[in-house]
Amino acid sequence: MKYTKGPWHACHNGECSCHMVWSIPHDCVVAVGIGAKDENYTGGEGIINEAIITANTRLIAAAPDMYEALKAMADIHSPYSPKVAHDMADKALAKAEGKGE
Ligand SMILES: [Zn+2]
Repeated sequence: MKYTKGPWHACHNGECSCHMVWSIPHDCVVAVGIGAKDENYTGGEGIINEAIITANTRLIAAAPDMYEALKAMADIHSPYSPKVAHDMADKALAKAEGKGE
């Protein structure tokens, strides 16, 4: 699969109002986190919850890391040991949760 090379970076860990996600190697924007006006996810109809958008932005930014970690875990011929693959997954999850990078 070909995609814009990671790692991707959420501007100010997803907390910036621009909600941009950058590819660090390519120095370009690959995505912008947005939120839906959905009362089930925003706490009120028509109100966009900034925390949800921040979480969406972080999740998008962690996508390449999660993809690589899952590939390392799923591929029996992976060049990574199970321990390294597990560490990759832990780091990707931490990044998605705003605790990494
Ligand atoms: Zn920004």
